[in-house]
Amino acid sequence: MDPELRTRVLEVYAEVDAAVAAAKPRCDASGRCCRFTEYGHTLFLSQFEADILLETAPAYSKPVSRDFCPFQVQGLCTARESRPLGCRIYFCDPTFQEPQHAITEAAVAKLKAIADEYDTGWNYAPLHTMLNAAERAVGAPVSNARMPLSVLTDV
Ligand code: SF4
Repeated sequence: MDPELRTRVLEVYAEVDAAVAAAKPRCDASGRCCRFTEYGHTLFLSQFEADILLETAPAYSKPVSRDFCPFQVQGLCTARESRPLGCRIYFCDPTFQEPQHAITEAAVAKLKAIADEYDTGWNYAPLHTMLNAAERAVGAPVSNARMPLSVLTDV
């Protein structure tokens, strides 16, 4: 990923983290956000987020299921530093649902503006689609590759 582009996307992550921290949503550490089918949601992410996630992601089971995130191990996220927007914004806290949507919309709009500015095109898909496509693209496990989450959407 182009370093300048990467920096721009990470700036959006930092803004999102600050907005979430300011809102102080409650986390019950239930792990629900990462068990998609069980709790009725899908983690969408842009190609930018998938690229950043896979740059530093630990090894994971493949192919990736639509049902749960392969980076959740024993209830903990093993890709925390590079987790996509959806993972940064989604909380079960009922008082955070409205701010969550507003933060998500603003962040995705910023990523789309970056895509326009750099003329990268816009790819936005569920986590399993992104990870399995990356796997097919390299034809080999991507866990150690230097190559290329988001939004959780109720289904
Ligand atoms: S990457 Fe996101 S969905 Fe996956 S374990 Fe981490 S926080 Fe959960």
